[in-house]
Amino acid sequence: MAKVEWLAEQDRWAAMSLPKRGTCIVDDETAVMDKEYFEALGEYSCSLPTGTYVGKRWKRNTVNTPRWKCSDCATMYAGWGTADQPCPDSGCDGKLKFIEVPPDWLMGEFYDVGSREKVGIRWRKIFVEHI
Ligand SMILES: [Zn+2]
Repeated sequence: MAKVEWLAEQDRWAAMSLPKRGTCIVDDETAVMDKEYFEALGEYSCSLPTGTYVGKRWKRNTVNTPRWKCSDCATMYAGWGTADQPCPDSGCDGKLKFIEVPPDWLMGEFYDVGSREKVGIRWRKIFVEHI
């Protein structure tokens, strides 16, 4: 739970900064979205977003989730990096390529728990598909 912030309705919609393109379909545990929506979702992998407004959504990945794949040996690496940096394996001449949709992304969403002090956080597993 996080401390909730309250705004007038029209400001709240702006503050949620929800993706303005793409499609997302949710149930209690999963969020199926297209690539457009996935890319437009703000990423907060190591923190929670500021502005704890009910309905706000973001995506989260842990630093231990692979984000990079070597073009040569296909080893996957976690953490931040830049495209085309040399493979950390000294015996390999490959370069690191960004894994377009890494596994194990979660979508966070603040939801109303009927309190004026706190807001709930719901986590759903993200599936990126053509929808
Ligand atoms: Zn390599």
